[in-house]
Amino acid sequence: MKKKEVSERSVLKDRVCIVCGNKFDVKLLENNVIPIQYFFSKDLIKNLTDEDGEYWECEYCSGYFEERVKEYMIKNWGSRCPDYEENCACCKAWKYFDYLFEIDE
Ligand SMILES: [Zn+2]
Ligand SMILES: [Zn+2]
Repeated sequence: MKKKEVSERSVLKDRVCIVCGNKFDVKLLENNVIPIQYFFSKDLIKNLTDEDGEYWECEYCSGYFEERVKEYMIKNWGSRCPDYEENCACCKAWKYFDYLFEIDE
């Protein structure tokens, strides 16, 4: 009897991000590894609610997306200037970054 070599990778359907409430499907990597852009914890939900469950954060809320954009910013503009200057293109770019991710309280 021939064994099936390639098994379908699992997809976890309709996981809900605890932070923003968005639903998403998680396509697992080889050996059912959860992709790094999601934050997942079983212990955390137990601590929070004292019930068994799954704690998920989507790629935006987990900070993964922000980290990728930050890398892009540094690659293209360099790191932030020590002081903000109105005429500096780098400062303007970082200001927009802050606006996108609302770092300033
Ligand atoms: Zn989210
Ligand atoms: Zn600057």
